[in-house]
Amino acid sequence: MSDSENQKPLNFIQHIINEDIANGKNQGRVHTRFPPEPNGYLHIGHAKSICLNFGIAEQYKGQCNLRFDDTNPAKESDEYAKAIEADIRWLGFQWAGDIHHASDYFEQLYQFAIELIEKNLAFVDELTPEQMQQYRGNFAEPGKNSPYRDRPVAENLDLFHRMRAGEFEDGKMVLRAKIDMASPNIKMRDPVLYRIKRMHHIRTGDKWCIYPMYDFTHCISDAIEGVTHSLCTLEFEDHRPLYDWVIDNISIECHPQQIEFSRLNLAYTITSKRKLTQLIEGHYVNGWDDPRMPTISGMRRRGYPAEAIREFVELTGVTKKNHVVDMALLEFSVREVLNKKAPRAMAVLRPLKLVIENYPEDKVEQLQAPRHPQDESMGKRTIPFTREIYIDQEDFREQSNNKFKRLVLGKEVRLRNAYVIRCDEVIKDAAGKICELRCHYDENTLGKNPEDRKVKGVIHWVSATASVSAIVRRYDRLFNSANPAAEEDFTQCINPDSLNEYTQARIEPSLASCQPGENFQFEREGYFVADSEDYTAEKPLFNMTVGLRDTWARMDV
Ligand code: ATP
Ligand code: MG
Repeated sequence: MSDSENQKPLNFIQHIINEDIANGKNQGRVHTRFPPEPNGYLHIGHAKSICLNFGIAEQYKGQCNLRFDDTNPAKESDEYAKAIEADIRWLGFQWAGDIHHASDYFEQLYQFAIELIEKNLAFVDELTPEQMQQYRGNFAEPGKNSPYRDRPVAENLDLFHRMRAGEFEDGKMVLRAKIDMASPNIKMRDPVLYRIKRMHHIRTGDKWCIYPMYDFTHCISDAIEGVTHSLCTLEFEDHRPLYDWVIDNISIECHPQQIEFSRLNLAYTITSKRKLTQLIEGHYVNGWDDPRMPTISGMRRRGYPAEAIREFVELTGVTKKNHVVDMALLEFSVREVLNKKAPRAMAVLRPLKLVIENYPEDKVEQLQAPRHPQDESMGKRTIPFTREIYIDQEDFREQSNNKFKRLVLGKEVRLRNAYVIRCDEVIKDAAGKICELRCHYDENTLGKNPEDRKVKGVIHWVSATASVSAIVRRYDRLFNSANPAAEEDFTQCINPDSLNEYTQARIEPSLASCQPGENFQFEREGYFVADSEDYTAEKPLFNMTVGLRDTWARMDV
């Protein structure tokens, strides 16, 4: 792939791959992998890694594996694994061949550990975790060798074998690599390769009571699968020498190249499965797919198109610099896609009854309106117009200056896709609350402006008698802090008003027969989606996806 083939400038990873191909490295093969730990649902940060890994494989006609990094059985579950598979497919990607699991390689990993022991490159250590910590040293001071470091190979082999056989309690011993306790890179100070942990594993059951550590497992799994470019986030940069050390010291052909890129961080959001789990467990949200969640399933339920997420990720670029991306950019991508594909419809969230006194009582006009203003191929919809309609409470004021381009007592406004009306009277209840408007319409204004006067302002409406009642949920940001992860307790900055439910909403009848998951633009309100779980024709439920305009710009980040 070159700059000219693909109009966009190449990112640094594409440059590396191009060079590898030019040098004949890996016989020109490009093989990546996406390696999630099935300990929670995927979030927007993972979307970046997915788009990058699968995207690179696609661009270079290579392969991308899906591998579950299931070496820490405590928090892993099949529900998470299934959700991860569904999310990747929904984002528009397909992994090569079968799904892989780090646990598929437990036996091979064990054999490679034996190989290291035999080469006198690993030893069984009996220091307690506290002692190990003391021996490790710190950035300023080198570490000290463990007193167990010089055990004979035969003794190490015997102990490691007995660790596997379950002869020792959890935590009693570990297998460590024998590298360099004085290394300036603390990761290289005889890192732990195996620990004893009696835990039931979702795939291997109770077969194992020792589990390999991430740094030992990951590189070997990559090599076994023939991965050429192992893309990971920046925090693994100082693990790279260990990645290479393991591969260099075992008998395996393939030597994948680890390349680090910066994580995607989003303002006002959390991208850590652990913290997202806290939101679920504390019932701060209604599940992993709550539309306020930055999970892929939450964004899907919120109505974000997969295409918009892919475009957003593309816009954020691939670099080695950590930075925080504005929520406005994500919403921009969502609007861009929805503006093109979402049919228009009218819904009134806070209905206020309006009676058109000069309109016949039993008359129903079936007005036609385009489903999309720029895309005629979407066809037209029928909107019933009747004597009684609803408008939004926010679209009426008894008095106002000219800046309020909606309905004012004694003035005119256009009803979108219909006529011009004038408000003549306001009816209030005993408490003084406006409960009805009395109006007149100008029958010569359907699809044309009156000739003798200018009418400014257009408002949306639905028929009172021929509309359908619906519930509409509107969302605001989940956190009041631009960097919730930096707060001492991020649950303290949860926005108490992040969900607003409009239970009295009214929608035009064409919306009552839509499909769950369908996107719409509710004219003048924003983009909404028919809820993918709870929408029914009897009880239509819509989620707000995003407003029509950016509301983040005026917030101080
Ligand atoms: P979390 O802290 O949310 O659990 P993780 O990195 O531990 O994240 P994994 O399941 O191990 O989650 O991640 C799978 C892949 O996704 C890894 O390669 C990881 O680097 C990548 N990834 C995770 N978070 C981000 C992010 N914010 N931006 C880019 N890539 C990410
Ligand atoms: Mg992880």
